Amino acid sequence: MDSIRTTMMPVPLSLNRLLEHAGRLFPEREIVSRLPDKSLRRHTYGQWYARTRALAAALQRLGLRRGDRVATLCWNHHAHLEAYFGIPAAGGAMHTLNLRLAPDDLGWIAHHARDRFLIVDDTLLPLYERFASLHRFERVIVFPFSGAAVTEREADDEHGHAAIDDYERLLAQAGGAGEPDDARGAAAAFRYVEHDENDPVAMCYTSGTTGRPKGVVYSHRSTVLHSLNCALPDYVALSANDIVLPVTPMFHANSWGIPYAAVMLGSKLVFPGPHLHPEDLLDLMQLEPPTLALGVPTIWLGMIQAFEANPGRWKLPAGMRSMVGGAAVPESLIRAFARNGVRLAQGWGMTETSPMASLFFEKPELHGTAGEDEWFARKATCGIPVPLVELRIMGDAGPAEWNGRDVGELQVRGPFITGSYHEEPRSPEKFTDDGWLRTGDVASVDPHGYVRISDRTKDLIKSGGEWISSVELENAIMAHPAVAEAAVIAIAHPRWGERPLACVVLKPGRRLEPGELREFLAPKCARWQLPDAIEFVDEIPRTSTGKFWKVKLRERFADWHWPQDATTP
Ligand code: ADP
Repeated sequence: MDSIRTTMMPVPLSLNRLLEHAGRLFPEREIVSRLPDKSLRRHTYGQWYARTRALAAALQRLGLRRGDRVATLCWNHHAHLEAYFGIPAAGGAMHTLNLRLAPDDLGWIAHHARDRFLIVDDTLLPLYERFASLHRFERVIVFPFSGAAVTEREADDEHGHAAIDDYERLLAQAGGAGEPDDARGAAAAFRYVEHDENDPVAMCYTSGTTGRPKGVVYSHRSTVLHSLNCALPDYVALSANDIVLPVTPMFHANSWGIPYAAVMLGSKLVFPGPHLHPEDLLDLMQLEPPTLALGVPTIWLGMIQAFEANPGRWKLPAGMRSMVGGAAVPESLIRAFARNGVRLAQGWGMTETSPMASLFFEKPELHGTAGEDEWFARKATCGIPVPLVELRIMGDAGPAEWNGRDVGELQVRGPFITGSYHEEPRSPEKFTDDGWLRTGDVASVDPHGYVRISDRTKDLIKSGGEWISSVELENAIMAHPAVAEAAVIAIAHPRWGERPLACVVLKPGRRLEPGELREFLAPKCARWQLPDAIEFVDEIPRTSTGKFWKVKLRERFADWHWPQDATTP
């Protein structure tokens, strides 16, 4: 056979190349972090580059070995970004701990991952203390986020205490506390660890909305490919001209991969620190107007409600675009931002998918083909899959057609999608024999490739043998002007198997009768899909990542009883 070999260099894909690229080409670009006292701290990429390499040098000096896990327990800020690149540069894998989890879960996760070191914000030390007894880190490196002095101490084996180090002192010792001269010092001193492109750079546990947390381990290869994908003009269109506000936490699903992609391109970054209240975010947008802001729908809902309730108090940055995802994005939210000049695009993804797997943009052949309602309906989909992600809908009888009607389980595969979980047997509930990830989401895809998530397998409501989508009902309810938010759950029903119960939060000062709401929904839903039970509640419980926590709602309404004569629909 006449064979031929590639002439391309076998250079591994490496996060370290992105770090070097940014340090050399974008030293003047800025990274702004909001501190606990709400003041803004500024670094140039040049300073950040030096500090990142100094962190890598310091970790090696402390004895970090290739493949060791370094956990982070931090808000979104420049030092967390240093960990994103500095830990892999030193050969380690960064393990982001989700600070909204219960201490028991944090201890379990750190132990399961066998984390050696921890980098923690000083303001989060009380949280660390609550799970310190469950996992013994060798060293706890404290970042003085609040500006207070850090009290260092040696390890105390007798009492089982980890050594405590001051993050800033470690960096200064390694010659990179942020002065221009330090950049040269640290750059000269530090050598990257040789690695394969499939070596780990980071890990994250799924937040456990369902079942026990499971660890996903990202590689240099998957992270670089995902970063390139994030940047593509039809999708996030990230560029050096952007000012990016990632409200998505860096402690969950890599803040959607934005920190890696932004550094690769030299985008200016504005980190909100711990200030995620809608009013704080709107204040920050006045101080540092972003061109791109990213977050989950619940925070965006709060933001638009605060904005519209206080005319004249804030401006939404002119031309700002916004990516929202992680949970269903109601069409009413997209319309509300559009009314105020902000383009909102929905994305779909999971911790397992790095996470951006699909994102909305309008394909040119669809320009001008739809009326306003149809256009917004399409905007409320999760968009089309990004390049390199293959997607199929698995129905009972095999892969479903992309006709916009047939629903089934959404399954995906690709080079930045996990093929297993860290130290877990590969289970058929999560992966198919032919190599696809089973997402647990129920979806349809239209002939143009737009994905519409209708539910999670566990959240579907089966009434009289027919499925009701809780997501569609929630969206319809949230379109009512008096409704702030709504979540729909299934309640066992003696006749119908299950019927929907709608938990509704009203906007402040608004009143609504169940009958009025049902009347409002009637033209939008089939009669048997209308929720017969509507409960007005003060708030919808949230998971650690800000999503509706239906498990808690189901617990709360576990004893719900239908009236004797309940025969609907
Ligand atoms: P967890 O399942 O622990 O919340 P992730 O944060 O990784 O973990 O969330 C992934 C899940 O979030 C998806 O499987 C899906 O159910 C939901 N999700 C993400 N984006 C969207 C979206 N745009 N619309 C509806 N659901 C979404």
